[in-house]
Amino acid sequence: MGKVFTVDGGGDKFAYASVENGKVIPLRTFSSPTSMDGLKDQILQATADGIKKYDGIGFATAGIVQNHTTIVQSPNLHWLDTVNLKEWAQNAFGISCWVSNDIEAAGIGELREGELQGVRCGIIDTISTGLGGCTVIQIPGTKELVIPGEPGHMVNFGLQGPLCGCGKFGCNEARYSGGAIRRRVKQLFGDQIPSDMDPCRFLDQEADKNRPWALQLYKEVGEGIALGWVNTLNRNGWIEKIVYMGKFGVYGMKHMRPHIEEVIQIGAMFPHHKNIPVVQSRLWPDGAHIGVAAIFEEYEV
Ligand SMILES: [Zn+2]
Repeated sequence: MGKVFTVDGGGDKFAYASVENGKVIPLRTFSSPTSMDGLKDQILQATADGIKKYDGIGFATAGIVQNHTTIVQSPNLHWLDTVNLKEWAQNAFGISCWVSNDIEAAGIGELREGELQGVRCGIIDTISTGLGGCTVIQIPGTKELVIPGEPGHMVNFGLQGPLCGCGKFGCNEARYSGGAIRRRVKQLFGDQIPSDMDPCRFLDQEADKNRPWALQLYKEVGEGIALGWVNTLNRNGWIEKIVYMGKFGVYGMKHMRPHIEEVIQIGAMFPHHKNIPVVQSRLWPDGAHIGVAAIFEEYEV
């Protein structure tokens, strides 16, 4: 096993790390670049001691990735659309690069080092600015499968529902994501929220003080997220575990958990799903680095 330079590129920030034998050493984090030149600059800064000491680059980001080389479409970083990052890295740095969808990478990370080790079928969802997720299947003696999904864009509110960033109406993400709640809390309490504070943190603070509006909002969100999970569970009796990650989910789970568990109890049809474990990723926020390094190793050999 070598040493892989990994990039977890999100809509707000890019995290750079070094991964060796499944161990992540964070290097630098910057605001998301806005061009390929900006990306190159950040990589050079994050590898100030020389990029050639790495076997190559593992690049994880949201969006549709083709052949683990090309970003077909990036929802938030349109300057990455249609870019073949493998060719680009070869030209820019003279090293290899393999690309993965960030949730696929996080799923592989959980299978190898995290909460999905030894699980035949599980789901991993990110509850963050957006709602993302995938299903993983692992049958002993066969290659693990990561099945991509778009749980945030399950249309649960019909055509009268709220407008989603994807352009459709009525998606789960438009109502229950951290981004949707951020907008809602800002609208309700804008003048009371310190200007340097994320409205979601304001919500946490108020919920910790048992303010009824904050507890009610978390109840609504918890129930909404749980309904998404119930629908998923009722489509797939194999699922044994739900793993979640993402700042909004991790911070808010203590307020949402009782409502989530209640909705799953009521809504799940398979008896073994009634008390399904809903656990936080222990690898978060490093899971995507571990997974994309594993993908790099697999493709590079
Ligand atoms: Zn949508």
